[in-house]
Amino acid sequence: MSIKQQVRLIKEGKISVVDYVKDILKQSAKINDELKCLNYFAKEESIKRAEILDKELKQKTNGKLFGIPITAKDDLCVKGMPTTSGSTILRNYKPPYNATCIEKVLMEKGIIIGKTCQDEFGFGSFNTNTSLDFERPLNPFDKERTTGGSSGGAAAFVQKANFPTVALAESTGGSIVNPASFCGVVGLCPTYGLVSRYGLIDYANSLDKIGTIGKTVEDAELLLDIIKGFDPLDPTSIKQESKKINIKEIAIQKEALDVDKEVKDLFLETLKKLKIKYKEVSLPLTAKYAIPAYYIIAMSEASTNLAKYCGMRYGKEEEIKDDFNEYFSKIRSSYFGREAKRRIILGTFARMAGYRDAFYVKALKARSLIIQEYKKVLKDYPVIATPTMPLIAPKFKDITKLTPLQNYMMDILTVGPNLAGLPHLSVNAGFISKMPCGIMFTGDHLGENTIIEIGKKVENIS
Ligand code: GLN
Repeated sequence: MSIKQQVRLIKEGKISVVDYVKDILKQSAKINDELKCLNYFAKEESIKRAEILDKELKQKTNGKLFGIPITAKDDLCVKGMPTTSGSTILRNYKPPYNATCIEKVLMEKGIIIGKTCQDEFGFGSFNTNTSLDFERPLNPFDKERTTGGSSGGAAAFVQKANFPTVALAESTGGSIVNPASFCGVVGLCPTYGLVSRYGLIDYANSLDKIGTIGKTVEDAELLLDIIKGFDPLDPTSIKQESKKINIKEIAIQKEALDVDKEVKDLFLETLKKLKIKYKEVSLPLTAKYAIPAYYIIAMSEASTNLAKYCGMRYGKEEEIKDDFNEYFSKIRSSYFGREAKRRIILGTFARMAGYRDAFYVKALKARSLIIQEYKKVLKDYPVIATPTMPLIAPKFKDITKLTPLQNYMMDILTVGPNLAGLPHLSVNAGFISKMPCGIMFTGDHLGENTIIEIGKKVENIS
């Protein structure tokens, strides 16, 4: 059942919101026991909110999400709920305010039932870079495999839930579409600036975008419609609206066919079934430079963002016995995970006097060229199609064998659209060895409606 249908049912008032929510919480607890997808389960808060909604129901209050359970990625601030961005350094942090997207969900009468798990601060592609405090989530189709990351908990929960639910997620370099592909759900990452980042714990400010994960394109679209819009609290928030372009012919990226054979076959078969005209185009600069440019920029920004977690104004506090510098080092050594430390070191190096021009500034130049390359193709074609990921969800035992560089290469198809701030959507194209596999559509800036339209077409064939 879609979210819209469920909202209509709840509003008929045949069962109380409290009874409905209690049942949902029971099911959610089971899902969480099995798949470990929540960093925080907001049981009591949800029941309290349901009680309020029951009263509002009698007054015939409106709300596009009335009584619908929604999860929020752990990097989104929810007032009074533990919000850690998956990091031990933020253990027990409870924000005194809501992120703008959370406010908007609450205004439409949704219920935040929990915070979904993620790689620490979003640093990862498999949700295996979890900190001391959390377990890694398991793929609903095979518990020996990853959910993808970094919004792994969100995708796993939406897939497993037998009730209408939709998730608030976030992507810096692919964290929405990657787990959507590995878990067989829909991931919708909007144009940079369309959704306010106010209340998001930053990974890399010039790349971060809040988006949605749903069981269907319709659900993901509904939540995006609610959370988007100009917000004076975010200086990068935009005022423009999404536009619609007719789809006559689309592009497929030639270099993106260099993936696992089964993934390529499924991708081409899906395009055939779509009965849409397509042309192969090449994005050579993106193929070659997107990964290095992305990782240099993302790590540079991340290393400055993480500087504030030193155990004084931000981050876990302890008694100060030594001098300040030793105290800061002790806190940061104890409570940041391995990958966060690696990124702080690499990011600081790339920005350092003497290296800045060779790394950071060069990466910014490469980013500009990548944007130009995308814009050129998108002038002729409204959509670029690629597989979402080069493979199906790998097994944990194989992930541990990857070097950091091999790990980063997994993002080869997702970092390009993110560097260019372009909207992209992943929808399940079918199954390979019983595992789901996504197809991704990238649109021009503000081209959300176009990728949504084509995403719905894919749902109708599979
Ligand atoms: N895998 C990428 C990274 O580690 C993207 C993660 C993300 O979008 N948060 O940076």
